[in-house]
Amino acid sequence: METLKTFYDLMFQTRDARRLLVLDCLENKTLEHKDILPLKQALATLEATPKKENQYILKLEGEKTIALDLSYEIDELKKDLLFLEKGEDALLKFLENIHADFETQIKSVVSALSAKKFHTLITDRDGTVNNYCGRYASSIQSVYNAVFLTRFAKKLDNAVILTSAPLRSIGLVDISVVPQGAFIHAASKGREYINKKNKRCHFPIKEEKQKKLDEFNAELSSLVKNPQYAKFALIGSGLQFKFGQTTIARQDITKSIPKDESLRFLKLVENLVSRIGNQKQFFRIEDTGKDVEIILTVENVQSGLDPKDFDKGDGVAFLEKHASLHMAKGGNLICGDTPSDIPMIPAALHYSNDTTAIFVSNGNEEFEQKVKRLYPNTIVVSTPDILVTALNALARD
Ligand SMILES: [Mg+2]
Repeated sequence: METLKTFYDLMFQTRDARRLLVLDCLENKTLEHKDILPLKQALATLEATPKKENQYILKLEGEKTIALDLSYEIDELKKDLLFLEKGEDALLKFLENIHADFETQIKSVVSALSAKKFHTLITDRDGTVNNYCGRYASSIQSVYNAVFLTRFAKKLDNAVILTSAPLRSIGLVDISVVPQGAFIHAASKGREYINKKNKRCHFPIKEEKQKKLDEFNAELSSLVKNPQYAKFALIGSGLQFKFGQTTIARQDITKSIPKDESLRFLKLVENLVSRIGNQKQFFRIEDTGKDVEIILTVENVQSGLDPKDFDKGDGVAFLEKHASLHMAKGGNLICGDTPSDIPMIPAALHYSNDTTAIFVSNGNEEFEQKVKRLYPNTIVVSTPDILVTALNALARD
């Protein structure tokens, strides 16, 4: 593996292999060496990539290179191989070794919730039920993670993954390995989703405005096909087509793009926006320094909210209505790990007081205190591994 492109290709090969492995594991099939081989080979390839101070060096176009932290990709492959070759107990032992108070935390979740009957799960993905990865496009879900979550989902009426990331190309459905129909995959904070019958549904948006965004997306896609700009689709957040919004990276956390080059690219995107539509009438640009967000300035016909004000609580309400979750039935479980996930709690409480929240702190004590101050009954665990293991344990009870 030499280039960034071959790295992504390799990760998508592990996704395809993982999807088959998840089905086999859920059916308790005996796995053969050849089924696990693609993951073994992928791990060996990643580990053989040239390294410089804990960063892996990959080629971009020409002589240029990029340094990446591949700990998510490597660690998740190692955990999967342990799970697949040595079994669930071996994986749990390993997790116990790498996470402080692993068993105590699992036990406290299980003892608090084992008597409860859950009907609906709505959970954030990254940092909540999936470990964080520096690049969205290579954050392929691991086998053990998908197996644990699916076992829990099977006990429910509805299980929803609700992310602010896009749905497709590249989005939530591209990096998930759970069986089709096990989850409703909701993206762009819930404004678009794939239902259990594999149909895409979305929030209403005016045709004229959608056309402008489609036009912009097509132009931006061809821009980043130009070898000179291809790297911007491959670093950090990359290129993401969200509902009513497009994200293109101009920098990543390791600052792999020289400052001048990053600013020149920003200018190019801004020019493209003004060429396609009068900026104020159609688009709003937000530049975070790492990502450029191009947002359609649609007024939300249904709720009267500006799309920038649409939060995950609105996403929950939209899904309740359109995906028929029947949350008034109670037994609602909400999971998240950042302030943007908190609005899902009152949204669920609006339908039923029988709502439980489990949040993941990822070591952020300030956030832990914030969520507990707002919703004192919230259960807090420290990592996604602990949350998914606890859900797996609850499914087996
Ligand atoms: Mg998150």
